[in-house]
Amino acid sequence: MKPHAVQIDLENCHAVRRLRPCAVCRGLGDRHHMVGIGKLWYHGKCYAGARGVAELLKLPAATLDHLQLDDVGPKIMRAILEKKP
Ligand SMILES: [Zn+2]
Repeated sequence: MKPHAVQIDLENCHAVRRLRPCAVCRGLGDRHHMVGIGKLWYHGKCYAGARGVAELLKLPAATLDHLQLDDVGPKIMRAILEKKP
């Protein structure tokens, strides 16, 4: 699987410390905008691809709030927004 490209803001060196390899595609991501399960990290899009959008939507709101449009895409982002009360 081709690594899922996500724009990463590396304007400061501290951001480098937040980079984590995605457990699905092995591409790097900023953990502040990824799904963390135990010691594993996933791009939002990769998590949804591996486990399904329904499973992604079951994640805590605090996790979903940090996912970004350029990662998950408009379809999943809309589902996340519609889930909110
Ligand atoms: Zn990924």
